Amino acid sequence: MRGVVMHAPGDVRVEDRDDPTIIAPTDAIIRVSATCICGSDLWPYHGIEHVHEPAAMGHEYVGIVEEVGSEVKKITPGQFVVGSFFASDNTCEICQAGYHSSCINRKLVGSIGTQAQLARIPLADGTLVATPELPPADLIPSLLAASDVLGTGWFGAVAAEAGPGKMVAVVGDGAVGLLAVLAAKQLGAQRIIAMSRHEPPPEARPRVRCHRHRRRTG
Ligand SMILES: [Zn+2]
Repeated sequence: MRGVVMHAPGDVRVEDRDDPTIIAPTDAIIRVSATCICGSDLWPYHGIEHVHEPAAMGHEYVGIVEEVGSEVKKITPGQFVVGSFFASDNTCEICQAGYHSSCINRKLVGSIGTQAQLARIPLADGTLVATPELPPADLIPSLLAASDVLGTGWFGAVAAEAGPGKMVAVVGDGAVGLLAVLAAKQLGAQRIIAMSRHEPPPEARPRVRCHRHRRRTG
């Protein structure tokens, strides 16, 4: 298969990689329909994190299940699935408390690299969420956003106890920040302030209030 490999800061190549195979009976192999570059991929790209050896890239992904291990019960071949950036069992005490990225059996999907045609996903039953049917192509990018940035933004809003009657400030309006805004709204926050380093685009202005410009008027 073809897959993305980072060799050094600024040196990213699309190369032939071995097709993944089932290793643990809880694994699934998916054919990746869409994947993307996370902000955290840019840390090694810009040299903020060291690149010690060539590293497969990517941990945000959606795709179609090709094969599952013998202990996978819920996920089946042919399903369209959205996966998380941490593989988790969804059964341990920490998962049940809602902190799947701290699962006692967690595996970092970034070490597998989903910027590729195929990917092996550990703990498939806990990590992958199947859609009811095959989504139309134009919905796939939105589902891809649920692979990392939506969950991260939602977690931030829940951790901040966003809810009815609350005023919420979101510091930073990147993908995670904007989804934290949507999450806070969904959770019922009364007023949401997005803080940015630049002017919001015109289409965002009716919904996203810029604190800098409201300070004088209260
Ligand atoms: Zn767990």
